Amino acid sequence: MYDVIIIGMGASGISSAIYAKRAGLKVLMLEGNVPGGIINNIPKIENYPGFKSISGPDLAMNFFDEVNSYNIEYKLEKVTDVSLDSIKTIKTTNNVYQSKYLVIASGRTPRMLGLKDEEKYLGKGISTCALCDGSLFKNKEVAVVGGGSSALSEAIYLSRIVSKVYLIHRRNEFRAENTLIESLKGIPNIEVILEEEVTEIISENDIFKGIKLKNRDLQIAAMFIYIGFLPNTEFLKNTDIKLDNGYIVVNASHETNIPGVYACGDVTKKEIYQIINAASEGAEAAINIAQKN
Ligand code: NAP
Repeated sequence: MYDVIIIGMGASGISSAIYAKRAGLKVLMLEGNVPGGIINNIPKIENYPGFKSISGPDLAMNFFDEVNSYNIEYKLEKVTDVSLDSIKTIKTTNNVYQSKYLVIASGRTPRMLGLKDEEKYLGKGISTCALCDGSLFKNKEVAVVGGGSSALSEAIYLSRIVSKVYLIHRRNEFRAENTLIESLKGIPNIEVILEEEVTEIISENDIFKGIKLKNRDLQIAAMFIYIGFLPNTEFLKNTDIKLDNGYIVVNASHETNIPGVYACGDVTKKEIYQIINAASEGAEAAINIAQKN
């Protein structure tokens, strides 16, 4: 029996674990993917205090080093189901664990366009991670789809590697941060295509060759999709936890509608999705739990 189980080893989960462990609680972290979460996909982070500029994987590794230096117990197991009575029961692909408190910090996953054969070409011409796959397309033409900060920052990153980036957005204005919109203007090998949508994947003998837009075709080596995210809450399907548009609703203490169940970071309903507030929310959840325990 643990005092607290934390689902997710991203910025909020790890920060929560550090605070819980330092408060003397018996902690278990569960992660179905890689420690660090979605920051592993960010090429360059320049707005996290203490680091003028750091790559996402390096920051993730720093977080993970702290988990190890505090001897925080963790298992790389995917959570499949939970039961949220006064004792919380957490099922993973391998085991069943129990705790007094639960912190859900499971983050969110990149949204896909829903095109025919999109999954088939994922990793074979379609990508959601410029940092992971960008170097495969050195000196080739690629497309980035989306109009938020992710699409713009990844298009800028890719423009330094590939010969040309087509940045395709469905509306006539971006919703990204102003600094990114300004940076975009000075980059000659980014062609912005507004008010356009990808309608089809072009392939030949099962090899990705490009995409069809409503008004033109693009022969490109790869398409990078950055159109937002879907919160990772599938394992909550058998609970009455309150969701809004798929995101977990929490109060100011980061507690959900179910007593003893907290949530923090990108899986929660909120206005700002940044590493800095994910980390602070995780810390606050742990402090509130420690005060109750
Ligand atoms: P986002 O802000 O939700 O933007 C998603 C974009 O994808 C929007 O432009 C949206 O179009 C478009 N989109 C959604 N569904 C689509 C579809 N089916 N087909 C075509 N386009 C579609 O997501 P994000 O850019 O990933 O950013 C998420 C959060 O991370 C934000 O809070 C952002 O500020 C933050 N972030 C910050 C930085 C940074 O450098 N500081 C970098 C990355 C992310 P519409 O505009 O028409 O809705």
